[in-house]
Amino acid sequence: MQKVLNYINGQWVEPDVAEYVEVINPATGEVRARTPLGRLSDVEAAAQAAAAAFPAWRRTPVQERIQPLFRLRDLLKANMAEISRAITDESGKTFEEAKAEMVRAIENVEVACGMPMLMKGEISEDIAAGIDEMMMRQPLGVVATIAPFNFPGMIPFWYLPYAVATGNTYIVKPSEKVPTAMQIIFRLIEQAGFPPGVLNMVNGAKEAVDGLLDHPAVRGITFVGSSNVAKYVYSRAAANGKRVQAQGGAKNPVIVMPDADMEMAVKIIADSAFGCAGQRCLAVSWAVTVGEARNEFCEGICEAAATRKVGYGMDEGVQMGAVISQQSKARIEHLIGLGAAEGASVPVDGRGTVIPGYEKGSFVRPTILMDMKPESEVWKTEIFGPVLGIMHVQTIDEAIALANQQAYGNQASLFTSSGAAARKFRYEVEAGNIGINIGVAAPMAFYPFSGWKDSFYGDLHAQGMDAVEFFTQKKVIVERWPKEWTRKF
Ligand code: NAD
Repeated sequence: MQKVLNYINGQWVEPDVAEYVEVINPATGEVRARTPLGRLSDVEAAAQAAAAAFPAWRRTPVQERIQPLFRLRDLLKANMAEISRAITDESGKTFEEAKAEMVRAIENVEVACGMPMLMKGEISEDIAAGIDEMMMRQPLGVVATIAPFNFPGMIPFWYLPYAVATGNTYIVKPSEKVPTAMQIIFRLIEQAGFPPGVLNMVNGAKEAVDGLLDHPAVRGITFVGSSNVAKYVYSRAAANGKRVQAQGGAKNPVIVMPDADMEMAVKIIADSAFGCAGQRCLAVSWAVTVGEARNEFCEGICEAAATRKVGYGMDEGVQMGAVISQQSKARIEHLIGLGAAEGASVPVDGRGTVIPGYEKGSFVRPTILMDMKPESEVWKTEIFGPVLGIMHVQTIDEAIALANQQAYGNQASLFTSSGAAARKFRYEVEAGNIGINIGVAAPMAFYPFSGWKDSFYGDLHAQGMDAVEFFTQKKVIVERWPKEWTRKF
C-alpha cells in the first residue's frame, strides 16, 4: 500500500497523525493508500516554510521564476501516463479521461509561463505637470488551494502555476479521497527545481482546511468543491481577512431546440452527462427539449445511455468508469429513487449495476429520469453521477426561464442551428460558462472558469488573467519630480 506524505520546505515529511482515510480504487474496491488526516501542526509547518521562502522568491525576477515551470511542463508531459494511471485508479474515471485532464493541467502551466508579459503594470506620464502615476502588481505572500476529488491532477493547476509565477509561495491540500496523483506530481515539482518552501503540500481533511482558513500567514485561499463547503470556506476565510475564491457545485442545463443537429446533440450531450460518470462540475445534468425536439432527442439519448460501455477505466473500450465510492453510489441511487417518487419515469435505470470481474466496484450505469418535474427536489439537487433528467417545454423562453430558476449557475448549453436563438440564449441565461452546440464548455487556461450564483463565491475566478489578478495586489504610485530638479540633467 502506498504511503501518502506531505511535502514541506522541499522535504517529504511523514505527518504525525493517528487518523487515516483509506483511498479505495472505486472500480476494484482495493485499498491503494491511506491519507493521513493532517493536523494544525502540519499546516503550521507548511505555512512557516512558505512564509520563510516568500521574501527571496518574490525578489526572484519573474523571468527566472518561470524557468522551473517550463521544466515542470516537460516533466508532466513525460510522466503523463503514470499520473493518469494514478488518477484512474483513485477517482474511477477512464484512462483517456485522466489523460485529457492532465492536458488541461499542462495548458495552465504553459499560460503561466507567459507571466513576464501577463503581470506587467501600467504607467501614465504627466497626470499633472511633472507628476507620473503607475500601477504595479505584487504577490500576496502565502496562498493555498483546497481541492476536490473529481479532477485530482487538474484542479490544483488552475492555481499553482499562476500563484508561484506571480511570486507567491503556495500550499495545496488535495482531496483526502484522491491524494496519489499529487504525490507523483510533487516528485516532478521537486525535480523542476523550485527553491524549498515555494511549493508545499499538506494532506488531510477538515482540520487541515480550517488550519489554512485561520492561519494568519495565509493571505489567499482558492477552493473547489461542493457549494455548502464553498460557502463555509468563503465565509470563514473572508472573516479572517483573506482574499478568497470558492467554486461550488452545479446543476447544468442543456436546451435542445427542434432545429438542432439531433445526431450531434445526442452524442455530445451523452458524453457530457455520462463522461467521468457524471462527476464533472460541467456535466450536463438535465436537458430541456423544446417543441418537436422531444421525440427524436429522447429516443437517441436513451439509446446512448443504455449502450454506454461501463467498467474499469483501464480496460480497453470502456467509455465510463466507476463513481468515487460506495457511499456516492448509494446516494446517487437514492436520488434516482427520489426522482421516480416525484413523478419521473426511469426508462434507462443504472441502479444495482454490477460489472463482472469488478463486483466490489462502485458502478452506476447511465440513467435517464424522463419528465422530471420542475421544482421537484431531484431537479434542484446536484446528483454528481451519470444521471440525466429530461423535461419538455414549448418555447425557448420557457426553457431559459426554467434554467434561470436554478440556484446554481456553473454552465448552460444550447443545441441549435439558429444564430438568433444562440444569441438570445447567451444573452439571457444566468450561468457563467456557456456552450453553444458544446456539452462541456470548459474554458481554456487563458479564460476564467466562470461559475455564477451558488456555483461560485468570490469575484476573481480560476485560470488566465483572473488568476493573475487574484494572486497579485495592485500598488499605485504617484510620483513628483519637480522640473527644477530634473533641469540640471
Ligand atoms: P467537497 O466539498 O466534499 O470537498 C472539497 C474539499 O473540501 C476537500 O479537499 C475536502 O477535504 C474539503 N472539505 C470537505 N468538507 C469540509 C468541511 N466540512 N470543512 C472544511 N473542508 C471540507 O467536494 P468533493 O466531493 O471533493 O467534490 C465534488 C464537488 O465539487 C461537486 O459539488 C462538484 O460540483 C464540485 N466541483 C466544482 C467545480 C467548479 O469549478 N465549480 C469543479 C470541480 C468540482
